[in-house]
Amino acid sequence: MIVFCRRLLLSLVALLPAACANLNFYSDEELEPLSAQAYDEATKQHPEITSGADYQMVQRVAKKIAAACDENFAWQAKLLKADDVVNAFCLPNGRIAVYTGLLQVTGRNDSALAVVVGHEVAHAVLRHGGKRMTQSSITQGAMGMIEAGLGMTEMGAETKGTVMSALGMGANVGVLLPFSRGHETEADVEGLRYAIRAGYDPDEAPKLWERMAKLSGSSTPVWLSTHPASEARAQKLRELIPVIREQEKNWQPRAKATQPAK
Ligand SMILES: [Zn+2]
Repeated sequence: MIVFCRRLLLSLVALLPAACANLNFYSDEELEPLSAQAYDEATKQHPEITSGADYQMVQRVAKKIAAACDENFAWQAKLLKADDVVNAFCLPNGRIAVYTGLLQVTGRNDSALAVVVGHEVAHAVLRHGGKRMTQSSITQGAMGMIEAGLGMTEMGAETKGTVMSALGMGANVGVLLPFSRGHETEADVEGLRYAIRAGYDPDEAPKLWERMAKLSGSSTPVWLSTHPASEARAQKLRELIPVIREQEKNWQPRAKATQPAK
């Protein structure tokens, strides 16, 4: 009965995508095995870098951003060797990947990398993957498989592509599905909040978007094709920086804030 109701609701959601952008019919528990499999599959496609200055930078930034969002995720961060891939993602439950191509745009600057990682982590914290799966009418097919407990390897190519693109890593299966403008704005704001809490320089955010917007060439960077960069976006971030700084000036990590006073 519950399954039937959810299917019926999903059919309605498919008819009203714009109004239902924030409905999520997928629990963290349902998405967890898909996230783990998708991460495993995506990170196997390129050699993993496990030492050196760039690796240390990715670990350092990911750790600080993770601490800044107060989520009890099973955090992981991998640096993948792919100089031509300007991309990063964070799957449900905190599985982060950064491609070496992105570091050429962030200029090996911790704050600039924190802007991208913060934005991607915000998509995971705000459950945008589950919301996109809910919103996409095609996932009605995927839902039955998820309910039957089938993993990614047992799904057909189309269903798998839908699930992976909804989770934010469609580039790996050739299905690019940009987040909605509403989800992008939410992730910009929340990502900036994490970067500020973690002590990074938020002024790197608009600068990064401007650098991204100037990137040109025969192939559009993956991150840019799912994250349209514009002067308006950079300007909005400039306006937000003082507002979020003020909101977060007394922020403390939950663990620290709840420690008994000595
Ligand atoms: Zn985004």
